[in-house]
Amino acid sequence: MAVIAAAPRGWAVFLDRDGTLNRHVIRDGRRGSPWRLDDLSLVEDAVSAAARLRRAGARLFVVTNQPDVERGFLRRDELNKMHALLADVLGVSAAYVCPHTAERRCRCRKPASRLLHLAADDFAVRLPESFVVGDRATDAQAGLNAGLTAVLLTTSARPSTVPAMSYATTLTSAVTLILRKRDQASATLIERNLEWNSAQ
Ligand SMILES: [Mg+2]
Ligand SMILES: [Zn+2]
Repeated sequence: MAVIAAAPRGWAVFLDRDGTLNRHVIRDGRRGSPWRLDDLSLVEDAVSAAARLRRAGARLFVVTNQPDVERGFLRRDELNKMHALLADVLGVSAAYVCPHTAERRCRCRKPASRLLHLAADDFAVRLPESFVVGDRATDAQAGLNAGLTAVLLTTSARPSTVPAMSYATTLTSAVTLILRKRDQASATLIERNLEWNSAQ
């Protein structure tokens, strides 16, 4: 019997977690990830940003490096509780986690794009029409590596020299950018169809 793979059909936004959807936890003056559900505090525009993306038809995924799992500070059950909350409150379809430290040289830690490909396979996502949003260059790089468009959150807006990457200062403005790019892409498609039809 021939096995026919499902054709990729949807587009998605791959969201980094710490510093993007929720605030970092400061320990000894350093930014870290929450270790308990009680320490997970969403950024103020996370709910509205996620809702706008979902209304526009995007599936949402969290892709996150959590090396504190391997270090023994972060328990899997706490992590699962946090991600269940993100599913409930933000409508995230699934969270993909790299639990390794950099020393492990695994293939799932961002900037590697393995977790994006896994999600794309699991949920039939069209990666070239999808976006990644994060607060670190490694988030953007993971997206660019997989052929996505990247939005990097920064403290000051600036032009980008990489065509597939933009900067935004808030999650809200990142979403506005993404929706504008989606509109532009569909307008270009309609124009091409009109040209094609009038050439008939
Ligand atoms: Mg981050
Ligand atoms: Zn890993």
